[in-house]
Amino acid sequence: MVDFSTLAQKYGTPLYVYDFDAITEQFTALKEAFKARKSLVCFAVKANSNLSVLKHIAQLDAGCDCVSIGEVKRALFAGVPKYKIIFSGVGKRDDEIEEALVQDILMLNLESEEEMMRVEEIAQNLGKIARISIRVNPNIDAQTHPYISTGLHENKFGVDVDSAKRMYIHAKNSAFLEPVGIHFHIGSQITQVEPFKEAAVVLANLVRNLKALDINIKFFDIGGGVGIQYKDEVTISLYEYAQSIFASMAGLDVTLVCEPGRYLVGDCGYFLTRVLYEKHNGYKRFVIVDGAMNDLIRPSLYSAYHEIVVEKKEQLEFSVCDVVGPICESGDFFAKNIELPKLEHDDLLIIKSAGAYGFTMSSNYNTRARVAEIALIKGQDKLIRKRETFEDIIDLEKEYL
Ligand SMILES: *Cc1c(COP(=O)(O)O)cnc(C)c1O
Repeated sequence: MVDFSTLAQKYGTPLYVYDFDAITEQFTALKEAFKARKSLVCFAVKANSNLSVLKHIAQLDAGCDCVSIGEVKRALFAGVPKYKIIFSGVGKRDDEIEEALVQDILMLNLESEEEMMRVEEIAQNLGKIARISIRVNPNIDAQTHPYISTGLHENKFGVDVDSAKRMYIHAKNSAFLEPVGIHFHIGSQITQVEPFKEAAVVLANLVRNLKALDINIKFFDIGGGVGIQYKDEVTISLYEYAQSIFASMAGLDVTLVCEPGRYLVGDCGYFLTRVLYEKHNGYKRFVIVDGAMNDLIRPSLYSAYHEIVVEKKEQLEFSVCDVVGPICESGDFFAKNIELPKLEHDDLLIIKSAGAYGFTMSSNYNTRARVAEIALIKGQDKLIRKRETFEDIIDLEKEYL
């Protein structure tokens, strides 16, 4: 077990800790499930974009799914080969498209006809052929939180099957576009196989239709979205997940691509925070900690549950409390109405499953410095991002005073 107290002492709090060996295990299990097929796992960089995390992912032979040119550049900088980098996202600026084409990454995932026209024009201006994939919205309910559900027609993502077909035909006839992939991503934190299966069937049928039109899709991209256990969710069996996707792909000569974010890193991360003090206002008990919503926003943003473990020898006098940060917002909390023992100044709390959408969603709100990040590699701890200072925060403003 990780010695969190020592890490907290050595690096200070709040602190993110990522277990790289656990990331390797998650990756290996996924590859194992997919082993009957050619597959490419492209880590969704937005879940955790620390350069050392990306380097570790690259060493596992994975690629990256990026949603901005910044993420593409991060992946390249960390050593991810360009032919394993996908650029997705519902809106791409001209300069982002241009840079992606110049960098010659594997493919751009397109989400509208309008975007395709921009890509075509920019490719023409550069004298390049853009490898593209189209994100199809299969109109399937992923049965997850509405903010992280993306595969319904009411969502802004992707295009419907008929539009996709029109786009593929246009791309095939264009001198500057090469349709190589098809893509869906129906949501995040999905805990059932069924939505993936339904989406895969819709897309595989489209691939067959395209083949009849002499449009040969090489990459069958099933997106990310595999959920993890935050509380008592029953997560999907990777074997069933893989098998149902394979069943839909029968007879197709394509490489399976998937884009896990949360699945690869979520459970491998911990957020460490210390108790400042307890406060009782007659109605409620509040445990006030040094971490806040600017460090880990998931509870505030999605009412997400994160298990909180107390690192303390003697755990007595359990009672119900809210665990809250110091930020001037009522939404600044990590947990509500949970049972914790009586706590004192400097007691350490470990917030679990914080490896995905934790640090990457953090901000400087309330002029709080973003926290340090630590990797655990074969039992050894290593700093992978130093704690910001006040100087860092004002750096881009101070010369204009
Ligand atoms: C966010 C995202 C992912 C990763 O989602 P997870 O739920 O973290 O697996 C994959 N693909 C695309 C296009 C995304 O936007």
